[in-house]
Amino acid sequence: MELKEIKGLGQARIETLNSHNIFSVEDLIFHFPRFYYDLDNPDTFQEDGKYKLIKATVISQVSVIRIRKNFNYSMCKCVDINGHVFNAVWYNQTYLKRAISENDTLYLYGKNSQTKKNYFVVSTYKNANKIKQENGLLPVYKTFKNIGQTIMTESIFSGLEKCIIQSILPKEIENAVFESNLNLCLKHIHYPENSEQLKEAKERLDIETLLPFIKFNTELKNKKNSTKQQKYSDFSHIYEKICSFLPYELTSSQKKVIGEIKNDMCSTHCMNRLVHGDVGSGKTVVSMIALAVCVANGYQAMMVAPTEILAKQHYQEFKKYFDKLKLKICFLSKSSSKDERARILTNMKFDIPCLIVGTQACLSDDICSDIMSMIVIDEQHRFGVSQRTKLLSKCKTPDLLMLSATPIPRSIQLVYFGGIDISKIENPPKEKQIQTNIIKQNKEEDLWNFVETKIQTGSKVYVVCANIDENDNDSYQGLSAKEFYKTMCSRFGEKQVKLAHGKLDSKSEEKILSEFKNGEAKILVSTTIVEVGIDIKEADIMVIVSPEKFGLATLHQLRGRIGRAGQQSFCFCLAKNLSEESYERIKYFKDHLNGFEIAEYDYDSRGAGSIYGTKQHGRIEDIFGYISIETYKKAKQIFEKIAEKHDTSFLETAPSYQELSKVSMN
Ligand code: ADP
Ligand code: MG
Repeated sequence: MELKEIKGLGQARIETLNSHNIFSVEDLIFHFPRFYYDLDNPDTFQEDGKYKLIKATVISQVSVIRIRKNFNYSMCKCVDINGHVFNAVWYNQTYLKRAISENDTLYLYGKNSQTKKNYFVVSTYKNANKIKQENGLLPVYKTFKNIGQTIMTESIFSGLEKCIIQSILPKEIENAVFESNLNLCLKHIHYPENSEQLKEAKERLDIETLLPFIKFNTELKNKKNSTKQQKYSDFSHIYEKICSFLPYELTSSQKKVIGEIKNDMCSTHCMNRLVHGDVGSGKTVVSMIALAVCVANGYQAMMVAPTEILAKQHYQEFKKYFDKLKLKICFLSKSSSKDERARILTNMKFDIPCLIVGTQACLSDDICSDIMSMIVIDEQHRFGVSQRTKLLSKCKTPDLLMLSATPIPRSIQLVYFGGIDISKIENPPKEKQIQTNIIKQNKEEDLWNFVETKIQTGSKVYVVCANIDENDNDSYQGLSAKEFYKTMCSRFGEKQVKLAHGKLDSKSEEKILSEFKNGEAKILVSTTIVEVGIDIKEADIMVIVSPEKFGLATLHQLRGRIGRAGQQSFCFCLAKNLSEESYERIKYFKDHLNGFEIAEYDYDSRGAGSIYGTKQHGRIEDIFGYISIETYKKAKQIFEKIAEKHDTSFLETAPSYQELSKVSMN
């Protein structure tokens, strides 16, 4: 159903929604609440440093206190339901002076200040006179520039009334396996009467989400039992040769993983393995050995990476070794020339043994042959399930190897990797020496002075910003990549600074990166395009602008870009807008270098289990990022029950398949 059929959504708002990938009423319905306020259990003010939802009445006007340019706070006196009087404070939100009046009742979510007695620092709030609801769970949505909470709520409500969302299950099966239908379940997600109902709806939705994955995993498992056509006879020979060319010795952990890969390759069943290791642990070389063995034995192989830069980097690195071994290697991306493409197609047509390193362009249907035997997927979390399936379909009996630095909680492991063996590379080849600092605004000048001295002695510096262009949020003025590039140019001179972002075409992007890698440029201002895999050894400083805008996993990936030759390196979080809440997160990042610990922390603080903690918090957070093992088990039983009686191929073609996979991926 088209968005314009919803009252209140005009052209401008529809454009905003589109820019957030909401194109239909159906999409809008899948815009789930960020969290809920539990209005039945409001808390009272306490100096315990814990987040809570307080119901309070305003007893003074809001006053705005300016601390310095771009930094002020708004404050008013409130009284909670126990009659305790305290000060509520908001940072940088001057408009509150107009939005809040004396005698208003507010729901304040936040926690007491750690420095000032009797102050409550508000993260988000609701004015009771703006909401119709008095009890139950109140949904709070992520809002966009011209779509505030009220319009968002009303549009979704109206969408739910008008539009019927089809389950991916045929009606008779849906009725047989679930107590409620998908539409009712979605209503309960947006307007739960209580947390029980929300929990049930969420589980119902999760199960539906999981079914295609379970099918996928089951198929992988079955494939594994089938016998493969390819046979690799001389693994050790190639392996030893490559080792003799390497400028370093493989770590014992890398050797162990290569041993596991060797067992898979030399057995009669297909390899289905995920190599899992923190950023910089040296996964690439491990996969190269497998690929070289494959090609040396007369087969074709393919390695795909999520970005052109990364694919090119692998290609150039591998080529050194493939040339020495006299093995064929080609590069394929959407910017490959006609000639290059034709050469690859000839290799395909005449079954010439070779390795293709490339991007998504490798998914193209004409890239396949009878002797294609091995697929390596780098940064596998960047690829959707359907892309994985497509790649696998290029081989009759694929040996699949996936590389990932993203730590995977146990439940997700089951969902995404249910049919897969996992190898872990334990220790990075060189212990990294990275110092992380949080830089407050008033120390910014010191930071740039430090950068200035460092680049004189050969440092390369990444400066990463969250946005490409200016956005309309006042407090982020000057913090986009383009704006920052200007600032850096005027400080360090245009020659020393480069700008890269995702909107550049791949040729320009590559040019800029190579100028940064090999040329005069010392500072690269960019968006998160440098997040995955880029390997520039000299880079030893990473400045992350507005770190609160990134997930911890991304911050960790970014930090992984520096110190890659084992040199002392520095990561700076330049924080101009840090709330106390985000400060805690960033502080955790600062104090921990281990990606797995960071991911666990992120996972815990974002969602896992918080649905059960509603009573203490008064707020149910981000439950949609989390699928429990219990739910997974139930889904598996349901899948088996369906598969007993029905053909389950409808799960492959479900239109919501990709969408749903995104929803649960985050
Ligand atoms: P990731 O696991 O993040 O993909 P890479 O494979 O890119 O990491 O490896 C990171 C860096 O470590 C590369 O520059 C690589 O050449 C180097 N490297 C890999 N293995 C070793 C090793 N055993 N000893 C020293 N350096 C290594
Ligand atoms: Mg890598």
